[in-house]
Amino acid sequence: EPTIGVLALQGDVREHARALEAAGARTLAVRRPEELERCDALVIPGGESTTMWRLARTFELLEPLRKRIEAGMPAYGSCAGMIMLADRIRGGVAGQETIGGIDMTVRRNAFGRQVDSFESPVRLTGMGDTPYHAVFIRAPWVESVGDGVEVLGRAESGPNAGRIVAVRQGRLMATAFHPELTGDFRVHRYFADLVRRAAAGGGSPMRGSE
Ligand code: GLN
Repeated sequence: EPTIGVLALQGDVREHARALEAAGARTLAVRRPEELERCDALVIPGGESTTMWRLARTFELLEPLRKRIEAGMPAYGSCAGMIMLADRIRGGVAGQETIGGIDMTVRRNAFGRQVDSFESPVRLTGMGDTPYHAVFIRAPWVESVGDGVEVLGRAESGPNAGRIVAVRQGRLMATAFHPELTGDFRVHRYFADLVRRAAAGGGSPMRGSE
């Protein structure tokens, strides 16, 4: 069984670890480069992307993270984690950097101050017919995606119905919402399956064709 790291600089690390374990995965909290090296894949939790970025720099993880992702390591980010995996962001603080990897532009705090959090059903491609009960907390949305990015889901109700809120590009996935908080672990199972196929040598690192 491959080891899925959870980036443990800041954010809801424990909830992701529990969800991954419920999906049958082995997990490891990642705070240093040595721990990252022991992982076959990585989850980047929800939290605050500006803090995560600053801590990743301080802990000298930013470059190792970029290198692993370029080398094809599977990764999944929720909310702040989605921001960290975006090639381009809007609404970041001055100088805010991401790890990058997914060819998309993500807007931070996109749903506006008047709606700090809301819930919406989201139908997710490849994860069953029942809509996901998605919880959004000061969430980003995806403004645009490149050709290689598959849209997995859009918000169906709420302040910005129709916005892209779940994507996949090859071995990289991101959601604007928090599946780790709702007890419905389809997203974590989907990612754990993707990781197992990648560990077995399947799937292209750049495209979703397996
Ligand atoms: N607004 C946060 C950020 O910009 C993300 C919020 C979340 O992860 N729940 O990082």
